[in-house]
Amino acid sequence: TEYSREDILKMAEEQNVRYIRLQFTDILGHIKNVEIPSRQLDKALDGEMMFDGSSIEGFVRLEESDMYLKPDLNTWVIFPWSQDDTKIGRLICDVYCIDGQPFEGDPRSNLKRVVNEMQEMGYDRFNLGAEPEFFLFKLDKGGQPTTEPSDEGGYFDLAAMDDGEECRREISRTLEEMGFDIEMFHHENAPGQQEISFEYSDAVTTSDNIQTFKLVAKTVARRYNLHATFMPKPIDNQSGSGMHYNVSLFKDGKNAFYDENDEFGLSKEMRHFMAGLLNHARGYTAVCNPLVNSYKRIQSGFEAPRYIAWSGRNRSPLLRIPSTRGAATRAEVRSLDPSANPYLATAVVLNAGLDGIKNETELDTPVDANIYEMTKQQREVENVEDLPTTLYTALKALKEDTVIQEALGNHIYKQFHDNKSLEWKIYSAQVTDWELNEYLKHY
Ligand code: GLU
Ligand code: MG
Ligand code: MG
Repeated sequence: TEYSREDILKMAEEQNVRYIRLQFTDILGHIKNVEIPSRQLDKALDGEMMFDGSSIEGFVRLEESDMYLKPDLNTWVIFPWSQDDTKIGRLICDVYCIDGQPFEGDPRSNLKRVVNEMQEMGYDRFNLGAEPEFFLFKLDKGGQPTTEPSDEGGYFDLAAMDDGEECRREISRTLEEMGFDIEMFHHENAPGQQEISFEYSDAVTTSDNIQTFKLVAKTVARRYNLHATFMPKPIDNQSGSGMHYNVSLFKDGKNAFYDENDEFGLSKEMRHFMAGLLNHARGYTAVCNPLVNSYKRIQSGFEAPRYIAWSGRNRSPLLRIPSTRGAATRAEVRSLDPSANPYLATAVVLNAGLDGIKNETELDTPVDANIYEMTKQQREVENVEDLPTTLYTALKALKEDTVIQEALGNHIYKQFHDNKSLEWKIYSAQVTDWELNEYLKHY
């Protein structure tokens, strides 16, 4: 929906909105907000609300820490769960510096920059459909999340087994009230694991939607005494949670990935874009799989990709081409997980693909065999490389990939790399239960 300033003032007034959350996202993907009483809304809509950026992770630059929040009017929504006497509205904001320039450390503004570069190449739109999976876990008596799943159900299982079902339906209903176009919802593979799919949109809107989706899932789950987690691999030996990205480029209102004269219906641009996605796969993994835990998902299979390849049929590779053609022609990137900051993940995936188009990178032949059943030797013959297996190797690959660094911009790249290197360092100095079980008696 397109809202004007007046529309918003009117809606806030008519619906008795008391408070407004001005929301943005830090480099690690956490939603931050400043809440204002509605009489400040006028000022906020003018982009005049200031906050102290030095307190936000990855924003730090103490000498010039005052920043402005500029709301994107089209993101206005009233939280359906807020009470009649304290209704809360929300606006997603871009972060600006005092000098009136977008702050280079703001992931959302940074994504807009990359989208602009795409438009300079002649494309109108990057269409993105995201499929964030998540788990519902029970809370303990103290209200803390456990790793006990909400149910024992499995893929597409029916109601009788599925306690999480009501909660999942309520999450979907709430999202619909907030303007989401829900396609379907179902139980995923692991106990307690869920998926709700919603309509694709442009790069920035879908990234906003992912953030809203997570907020709603967590908020609604609490009411059911459950915790919704987007941690990629919460349980050993069960499926992890992915966040597949379905991507296509539009030019002059048409899907530039579709070519009706091609044997497979795929355009040259799509092949180059996919080649870019494969070429930079190692480079963007740290951004798309940013937690130590992300690599436990990638390592263990369960339909998560471990190898860099593409296929028209198989689900194990990094890239898959769903069979629909025409306007819905798209590539599915399967490596991402929902712990990724969507603004950063979208920027790097887009830039990787665009780089393939710029350089007219040739796409290798598809690997239609199940890569997991191939021997190492067969994979070498087929030229199938691995994705990074730890956050450490992923960060090393990021350090070698200037195209991905450019997609993040200097400020974010540096903050992200420093922050995540520290995370790895702290993790790798831990003595884990696994080590104690494995070594204590034997050595
Ligand atoms: N949960 C799987 C993953 O980790 C994906 C399952 C699916 O194809 O929906 O990527
Ligand atoms: Mg799924
Ligand atoms: Mg999928």
